Amino acid sequence: MVDYADILESIRQEVQPLLTQGKVADYIPPLAEVDPSQFAMAVRLVDGSEYSAGAADHAFSIQSVSKVFRLAQAMDIHGDDLWKRVGREASGTAFNSLLQLEADNGKPRNPMISSGALVVMDAILERGLADPGIVFIARCLDDEAVPFDAGVADAELATTHRNRALAHLLKAYGNLNNDPEAVIAAHTRESAVTLSCVELCRAATFLATRGETAGGQRVLATRQVKRLNAVMLTCGVYDEAGDYAYRVGLPAKSGVGGGVIAVMPGLLTVAVWSPGLNPRGNSLAGTKALELFTTMTGVSVF
Ligand code: GLN
Repeated sequence: MVDYADILESIRQEVQPLLTQGKVADYIPPLAEVDPSQFAMAVRLVDGSEYSAGAADHAFSIQSVSKVFRLAQAMDIHGDDLWKRVGREASGTAFNSLLQLEADNGKPRNPMISSGALVVMDAILERGLADPGIVFIARCLDDEAVPFDAGVADAELATTHRNRALAHLLKAYGNLNNDPEAVIAAHTRESAVTLSCVELCRAATFLATRGETAGGQRVLATRQVKRLNAVMLTCGVYDEAGDYAYRVGLPAKSGVGGGVIAVMPGLLTVAVWSPGLNPRGNSLAGTKALELFTTMTGVSVF
């Protein structure tokens, strides 16, 4: 019998020396102000039991962890048609590469890098809902209100020149139906959603339960959940996906706020937060914590 509470506490202690070694994202100004010494980890089993260590109820900016929910929603709406506009191969380059989008003739390599996530947001905006991405996260939380940090969203909107460049390049290739600025605005708002590790584990539960929320609502078909987990494994942590598969062994998705969510289908979701990032833009201590978690519990898809 795995003692999750004990394991999470051991991990929290073991990663302490790493908390000061990462670098907080500074290209979104409010994120540069976050204290890098913070750490949280939470686990939620599909039977509903929850375990945590550190500041697991502290809400942080989920940033690109939101791309999992965004993709789930687009797969639900568009099915296989979505893949006409975005690929599903590992990127092997930085998450915000312009060069790769140009080399790939305007069809982003996958939905987890910035260019792909913009195409996915464009696809869900076609439904005409206000804040469609945030609405889907709320459904994953059984219709709880989902907060977002307007300060983070506004700061990113004012400075997101690289994403604007990607959006305009996509538009030039005919792979964006909406106005680039509308897509950027929806993207930054969803990125600025704030959730704690405990909440993120619960929101992502549908990945472990073949498509049902903690409250038993179906948000995605089982066959799509299988595919979504596969895309997370190969693309979720950008050009670190191979190393993650080797060290952690679970489908995962990171964000530059320092959050990472990982899933063991059929068993659990695990979320970790530590704002200091490694050079690939993934949480430095968070990655180590996930590696320790799968090593100590023996939980892995391999
Ligand atoms: N909102 C951020 C951006 O678009 C998210 C990036 C990330 O978390 N990797 O740059």
